[in-house]
Amino acid sequence: EYVNINRLFNHVLDRFDMMIQSADQFEKKYTIKREITNRQIWMEIDTDKMIQVFDNIMNNALKYSPEGGVINCSLKETHDNVIISITDEGMGIPKKDLPHIFDRFYRVDKARARSMGGTGLGLAISKEAIEKHNGKIWANSIEGEGTTFYILLPYVPYEEDDWE
Ligand code: ATP
Ligand code: MG
Repeated sequence: EYVNINRLFNHVLDRFDMMIQSADQFEKKYTIKREITNRQIWMEIDTDKMIQVFDNIMNNALKYSPEGGVINCSLKETHDNVIISITDEGMGIPKKDLPHIFDRFYRVDKARARSMGGTGLGLAISKEAIEKHNGKIWANSIEGEGTTFYILLPYVPYEEDDWE
């Protein structure tokens, strides 16, 4: 499908914003900030899969930020890529675990993870989906400070895009 990825990302974030505003469980303690380019970026993507990826990373950002905080979401373009990043102020991921978080069923600190629910498949599925789009996904994290997930997608801008 040929879709506007800015709009798709904004839709997902709108939904999370509404969830945070309405659900008692979140106690409105999370703030989503956005830095999304105004330039319309049209890409050939599998919409359902891409939504699944955004959903999982946003869900993780909330789930692993028990104290709440700001979740910074950005979408930028370079001359041949689109870079999406999602940064939370949560518990972070220990250095030794970071290389494994995209493995199937891998969860940091099993005892703690179990109490939070989940299967440990979200990131493995996300990675598979991004690689199907010839993209890359990775994370940087500082334990106790927060985590940033990056998604890089190849993008060749066309002149026609300026007419949108
Ligand atoms: P599922 O997504 O299948 O419901 P899950 O969230 O445990 O379960 P993944 O999304 O694959 O599985 O994440 C794997 C592990 O990486 C998590 O269990 C968690 O330990 C760690 N992790 C993922 N995102 C974050 C984050 N934003 N902050 C801290 N730890 C994270
Ligand atoms: Mg998850």
